[in-house]
Amino acid sequence: MTEENRGKCLCEPCPTYNECMRAGDELLFCLTGRSPECTFEKKGCACPACPVFLALGLRKAYYCIKGPEGGQQ
Ligand code: SF4
Ligand code: SF4
Repeated sequence: MTEENRGKCLCEPCPTYNECMRAGDELLFCLTGRSPECTFEKKGCACPACPVFLALGLRKAYYCIKGPEGGQQ
């Protein structure tokens, strides 16, 4: 299930996705949590167009920075 979702995750082509995240092969932040080490500049978020986002009924964005929806304020 997670592997299947990783294949659908749109983070990799997202403009906010950076070398730090790429180096850690980090994806699927909406499920696995925010990036533990990387720092960010917000440049847009591809999540609202992602099939995982739609399938899970998510409503927010920038999961790489903010973590999964349940943990957000
Ligand atoms: S969570 Fe959103 S902003 Fe972060 S890398 Fe993925 S698509 Fe881009
Ligand atoms: S909603 Fe965002 S973090 Fe979650 S799988 Fe899609 S692109 Fe990746």
